[in-house]
Formats: sequence, C-alpha cells, structure tokens
Amino acid sequence: MTLTVNPARDALIVVDVQRDFCPGGALPVPRGDEVVPIINRILWLGDWLTIATRDWHPPDHCSFTPQGGIWPVHCVAGTPGAAFHPELDAGRIRQVVSKATTREAEAYSGFQGTELQAHLARQGIRRIFVCGLATDYCVKATALDGRKAGLDVVVVEDAVRGVEVTPGDCAAAMAHMRAAGIRAVQSADLRA
Ligand SMILES: [Zn+2]
Repeated sequence: MTLTVNPARDALIVVDVQRDFCPGGALPVPRGDEVVPIINRILWLGDWLTIATRDWHPPDHCSFTPQGGIWPVHCVAGTPGAAFHPELDAGRIRQVVSKATTREAEAYSGFQGTELQAHLARQGIRRIFVCGLATDYCVKATALDGRKAGLDVVVVEDAVRGVEVTPGDCAAAMAHMRAAGIRAVQSADLRA
C-alpha cells in the first residue's frame, strides 16, 4: 500500500528523538537510535510541515524518581541529554514543540499543554504521520490525541521503537492505536 504525502494537508510529527531516549542516554529506548536514519529519509520526502516534539523538563520534574515519579532524571531542558539525537537531520525540522516543561506537568502526548493542535489547524493540516520514541508511551499518546483532535493519523511502523517495560507493550500499543482508527505503514510505502 503506497501513501502519497500531500504537503498541503499532511504533517510529520517526530516524537522525542532525544539523546536521553537513545542507547547511552538516561532513559534509553532499546535500539531507539535505529529510527534516526529512517526518519531522516522521511524528512526529505518532500517540502512539508515537519514538527519535532521533545521532553523539556525542569531539573525537579514530577516524573523523576527523586520526586517520587517513575522515571530516572531525563531530558532536563538545556542539557545535552535533552538535545535531539546528533544524527537526526534537525535542519529539516520546521518547528519544535517542547512538552512537560513545568514541574507539575507530565505530558506523553505532544498535544498535551502545547500549541501543537492550534498550529496544525492554522496550517490546514488534516493528516499527521507519527514516528519516533517511544511506541508504547509518547508515540502512542501523541497518535491517540491526534485522533481525538479529528486528524487522520498514520504511524510509520519501522520508524518507531518502544520501551517494553513489560514484553508485549509495543504490540499492545499498536493494537490500541489501530482500534482507534490509526493506520500503520512502512516508511518504504511513503511517496512524495
Ligand atoms: Zn519525560
């Protein structure tokens, strides 16, 4: 199944491809860095709206274990760990959306507490292609919120990787997304 990208109505959402979520980082997604060359190819598919989300936390964020949260300290705003993966072709990204930027606010979804939905609406975007990290957390939450916002949502399945705290979490996340009307495609099926 081939899908043709239409720059007038489609946008790419690159979710949290940050150093801390890649091997060697503070909260690594297994093989998370494998998405980088795939996403770089998608970024060059056409002259379309490309948006990257990022975790951009204060040092005492509520999700961190010292604050009683469930995650190790990660993606503290302005630190090297919060930077995009160095091989991500960030020059092709038109807009960056920072999320969970205050101590009390957790946000797995790029839509949560951000201007993402308003920005997409202003640009006339009707369909989003979602890729990045992690399948079972921020990719899933972003894709589901896209559906709730009334968008067509497509997950690029070879351009996501998951945490798998429990084995099967990624498959369950994909099933959950499909049940919500979200399509899954392979990057090779995308055309300019
Ligand atoms: Zn976080």
